[in-house]
Amino acid sequence: MNSIGIYIHIPFCKQKCLYCDFLSFPEGMEQQALYFDALKKEIEISAGECEDYEVTSVFIGGGTPTSVEPSYIADIMGVLKGQYNLAENAEITIECNPGTADYKALRLYRDAGINRISIGLQSAKDNELLILGRIHNRKQFEECYKNARLAGFDNVNVDLMSALPGQTLRDWESNLEYVCSLEPSPEHISAYSLIIEEGTPFYEMYGENSGIRREHLLPLPDEDTEREMYHRTKEILEKNGYYRYEISNYSKSDRESRHNVRYWNGGDYIGFGIGAASLMKGIRYRNISELSNYVEAINKLDIFDILKAIRTEVQPLSKNEQMEEFMFLGLRMVRGVSCAEFERRFSCEMAEVFGEVIAELRGEELLEVTEDGIHLTDYGLDLSNYCMAKFLL
Ligand code: SF4
Repeated sequence: MNSIGIYIHIPFCKQKCLYCDFLSFPEGMEQQALYFDALKKEIEISAGECEDYEVTSVFIGGGTPTSVEPSYIADIMGVLKGQYNLAENAEITIECNPGTADYKALRLYRDAGINRISIGLQSAKDNELLILGRIHNRKQFEECYKNARLAGFDNVNVDLMSALPGQTLRDWESNLEYVCSLEPSPEHISAYSLIIEEGTPFYEMYGENSGIRREHLLPLPDEDTEREMYHRTKEILEKNGYYRYEISNYSKSDRESRHNVRYWNGGDYIGFGIGAASLMKGIRYRNISELSNYVEAINKLDIFDILKAIRTEVQPLSKNEQMEEFMFLGLRMVRGVSCAEFERRFSCEMAEVFGEVIAELRGEELLEVTEDGIHLTDYGLDLSNYCMAKFLL
């Protein structure tokens, strides 16, 4: 039986962070209730499409899934357990923001079968959290972390963000050291650097055409400091028993995020809820992102028309597109991509298609060839955008 991952999008947040360009927003109880009714229905009517698949991972993300009534999440878990072939050891993750889940809620998630939690700390410094517009402080994170452990979560990710306004190299190092010093320390750490996205308040403040005078803002770290932060991340986390398995993701042995590894491996996944993306049998699509249109389509249309109405940007990937994706997603991972797997999927040798690029990047010491595949060197991972672009056909 083939395997699949499921992504479930919960778009609600208590308030919008200043840097955030995810599909997320605050919303009242009534809209939330309508959304969960529709979401449950979408998951139920999609079960038939997934009946030949074993579900090996589920990721409940957002938004802030823990900001809604926990029984909504338990309900969804009930549908998955009842109507999908959920693998016995499936990795089931929920994203959580500190200040939105107490012990009782965390216990309920755990009892519902969720076995991994990803906590958005972002910074261990209250002044940095304030600058980001986060709703929580460090104390609330500590409470949340402790409660997650007490509730039985033995697979915990903590998200951190570097290159924040006013952040020094030492500030960043101490954030990493703080997370590593938690008792017990998290099994997984994601460490991304802040990106100033268009359409966010941060873009107004820090974007190229910002009208705000720079002396009125805390400065973003310069490029050299940002690079240094990136290098120190690896050094500090490796010293503390984590290994890097993807450009920005570190884990203890055997605790990689199986759901994310599926994305990077080009495996099938199906997304439910507004804005959720799917890739199944070489076809990519995305759900519509307007909450009211989504709810209306699901409530008003005939069952056979619902999925057609809520799925948009449906794009069958050509063989070339699939090969490109296989390379540039797979090369995000430190172990790289396997030649045998490439041949199995595309019935041709990797060297036939990408031989020249591989030789070029190898010559620049950006890539190494091993017995069973290729992977980027540390230097190549540093320049990953440059390397990935080379694999476009
Ligand atoms: S909590 Fe996450 S999803 Fe919600 S607004 Fe902040 S960054 Fe965006």
